[in-house]
Amino acid sequence: MTGEAFDVAVVGGGLGGIYASHRFRDEGLSVVGIEGASGFGGVWYHNGYPGSRVDVDSLDYCYLFSREIFEKWRWPERYASQPDLMAYLNWAADLLDVRGLFRFDTWLREARWSSDDDRWHLVTDRGERIACRFLVMCTGNLSEPKPVSFAGLERFRGECLQTNRWPHREVPLDGRRIGIVGTGSSGAQAIPVLADAAEHLVVFQRTPHYAVPAQNGPAEPGLQDAIARDLETVREDSLARFTLPRNLENPRPAASHSPAKQRELLERQWECGGHGMSYLFSDIGTDRAANEVVAEFVREKIRARVNDPVLAAKLCPDYPIGTRRLILEIGYYEAFNRGNVTLVDTREAPIVEITETGVRTADEHHEVDLLIFALGFRPFLGAIDRAGVRNAKDQSPRDVWARGPRTVFGLMTPGFPNFFHPTNAGSPSVLGPLFLQNEFHSDWIADCIAHMRRSGCSIVEATEEGADVWGRKSAAVAERMLRRQVDNYMVHVNADDGSRVFQPWGAGLATYVPEVRAMTARDYEGFAFR
Ligand code: NAP
Repeated sequence: MTGEAFDVAVVGGGLGGIYASHRFRDEGLSVVGIEGASGFGGVWYHNGYPGSRVDVDSLDYCYLFSREIFEKWRWPERYASQPDLMAYLNWAADLLDVRGLFRFDTWLREARWSSDDDRWHLVTDRGERIACRFLVMCTGNLSEPKPVSFAGLERFRGECLQTNRWPHREVPLDGRRIGIVGTGSSGAQAIPVLADAAEHLVVFQRTPHYAVPAQNGPAEPGLQDAIARDLETVREDSLARFTLPRNLENPRPAASHSPAKQRELLERQWECGGHGMSYLFSDIGTDRAANEVVAEFVREKIRARVNDPVLAAKLCPDYPIGTRRLILEIGYYEAFNRGNVTLVDTREAPIVEITETGVRTADEHHEVDLLIFALGFRPFLGAIDRAGVRNAKDQSPRDVWARGPRTVFGLMTPGFPNFFHPTNAGSPSVLGPLFLQNEFHSDWIADCIAHMRRSGCSIVEATEEGADVWGRKSAAVAERMLRRQVDNYMVHVNADDGSRVFQPWGAGLATYVPEVRAMTARDYEGFAFR
């Protein structure tokens, strides 16, 4: 193989890749970054749809490793908008001086491990050939769009867009007849904004999702300074304890409160906004009755906000709350009170086909000029599949994960030497703070490489026994979770026996980090070095 040679290739220029490239470069390693988009941002580069913003408090969704970065950047709002996130990531990348390491507009097409020279051999869509000792996929866990595959789509004569591949140009909305398919986190953020602008908006909903108020507003004065004063402790506390939103402390089982007290806590949380609704009682994620207290409270709020009772019933979920990602909304339910918004329940009337002028459901044709798909992502391995990763046996990670994630720490898959996939299934991933998890994983990789250097090894690999142990630990954590019982993108269902594998580490960083630290301290239990 000819081509360039580096110690590490970092794939992805999002929040993880920016930190990873900085961290490895400072470790004295030669680094190349590969990014398909024209700039930094990762999923946020592509998620520029109307209303796009993060649904986690910005002070929990930013870098914590650098005092300079934390103190200099000021978040204007409680939840950062997509443009603010893009500005932040570009600013941080420049401050860390990693732009020069990256090749943009470059998609990784093939990555093969060769046992001949113990290197990963990469081929990009520009025909570049790169050899590297370590391959780190900072491609996130939700970044590869779910394909849009409705019959007749190619016939549509209007404009057709995806929320997670939103174009980098002005998209006129005013006065248009717009259709949107999908009411998850992305759809629910876009719908109120689209409703404001459109002549008419048709919302195609398959499953209603629970949505609670984000309660966005200006950033709380003083909070950032208070955290900055004790940044190192806050970071360490977050690693050791992060499961609870900042406003909650020591939740108790629902039944330990009187109905009046439950109501008071629910109302207070409603006003406070954010994901706290999923953590208000300690047993909400495991006990059906406790869960129903919260679920029915939210349904009651939906019924109070939506004027038409028939419409409200269609918007009310009937499964346990928090088993699919809770949506934080800004004016979502009020959008359905407008005269220019129609809700189509596709469980009653499925989408049959896309026509030249709109969407035909089982009972009606809906004329639209702009059709938006908010269908979500191919979770966890989607971006790794796309990059064409193959080990020496010509297997992809998906081949090895055929019955659910098979990893140690969600970071390495057995059979793939020197190959890391930060924040993937097996780690808290979509259930934890992503900046902090990426920092933790890149630090672990950098420490592991330093350990190899000291001990004269060049190859690290997760062992089969390590993956067995980690799989059992992960399954034990998820055993009682209601989330595992409800179909959602976090659950892998085996077709042959119907067994269900909850893919993320289900109990947050609070249990994950101590496990990782303990196994690492036991001489990298779960890994083999050569
Ligand atoms: P999502 O939550 O997976 O929602 C996808 C939506 O599309 C669902 O309503 C789904 O219906 C529908 N859908 C998918 N395929 C369909 C089909 N063939 N026919 C009809 N409907 C279909 O995706 P997302 O909204 O992009 O969000 C994904 C994740 O990204 C979130 O869970 C969150 O973690 C993250 N996210 C975060 C933010 C943020 O921080 N602000 C914003 C957006 C996304 P069903 O429910 O019936 O499957």
